[in-house]
Amino acid sequence: MTRTVYVNGEYLPETEAKISIFDRGFLMADAVYEVTSVLDGKLIDFEGHAVRLARSLKELDMQTPCTKEELLEIHRQLVAKNDIVEGLVYLQVSRGSDGDRDFAFPDPETTKPTLVLFTQNKPGLANSPASQKGAKVISIDDIRWGRRDIKTVQLLYPSMGKMMAKAAGADDAWMIEDGYVTEGTSNNAYFVKGGKIVTRPLSTDILHGITRTAVLRLAKEAQMEVEERLFTIDEAKEADEAFTTSASAFVMPVVEIDGAVLGDGTPGPIAKRLREIYLDESLKHAI
Ligand code: PMP
Repeated sequence: MTRTVYVNGEYLPETEAKISIFDRGFLMADAVYEVTSVLDGKLIDFEGHAVRLARSLKELDMQTPCTKEELLEIHRQLVAKNDIVEGLVYLQVSRGSDGDRDFAFPDPETTKPTLVLFTQNKPGLANSPASQKGAKVISIDDIRWGRRDIKTVQLLYPSMGKMMAKAAGADDAWMIEDGYVTEGTSNNAYFVKGGKIVTRPLSTDILHGITRTAVLRLAKEAQMEVEERLFTIDEAKEADEAFTTSASAFVMPVVEIDGAVLGDGTPGPIAKRLREIYLDESLKHAI
C-alpha cells in the first residue's frame, strides 16, 4: 500500500515526496525526531513527545516548524489517511537546506526547517509475541556523542548495536560507559531485584524517555519501589528480572543478558504488570 506522508505542508503519496539532496538532515544528521505510538487509532502521550521535540530543537538552536496544535493535526490526519489502528507516527525536523553543503548553520531567516512525518502500520503492537517471550540483550561499549538527551537522527551506532546483537543471537544491546549501563540502543534500561526497580537517573548521558517518565510514575502509584542510580551490567545479570521502555515497544521484558538467564527465563511479574498498567493508562489518555 502506498502511504500518504507529510512533507513541509503537503500530504503526498510516499512515492512523490521529495527532500533536497542538500538537506542537512541527510548530509550532517542535523535533525531531530520523535516517534509516537498509535493504539486504537489514537496517539499515545502526544504531549510528552511535543514537549521533548521543543526541547531538542531549542538545545540545537533549530527553528520550530509549526505550533503544537498544527503538529497534532498533522499526526491525526496521517493516522486517518493511512487507516492506522495500531502503529507509529514518525516525525523528523531537520535544519533544512540552503542549496549547498557547509559546516556552518545556514541563516535561519532564509533557510526554513524541513518537517517530515510518516506512519508505520504495526497490527498487533500492543500484544506483540516479542513482549510475551521477552528479549535477549548483549552489552556493548557506549561510544555515542555526549548529548544523548537530544533526540537526534545520529542513529548509526545504535543501528550497529542492533546488528551486533543479531549476530550474537540476541535481540538488542545495552550500552556501557565507564562501567555503568547507560541505556538500550533504542530504549531505557531497568532491572528488578528484591522487588525494587533500578534505572539510571536522567542526565545528558541518556534519552529522557517519554515512556520512562510514565512508567516510573505508574510504578510509584502502584506502590512499587523505584531507585534511580547508576548500575553495572553484572548487577543486571544477577537481577530477578529486567525490562526496557520505549514509545514503540512500551514495557519490554528482558529475559537474558550476555547469556545469563534471568529468573526462569520468562518475562518477570513486575515487567508484565507494568506493561499492563502502562497500556491501560495510555489507552485511557490517548487522543
Ligand atoms: N533511549 C534511546 C536511545 C532511544 O532511542 C529511545 C527511543 N526513542 C528511548 C531511550 C526511549 O524513549 P521513549 O520512551 O521516549 O520512546
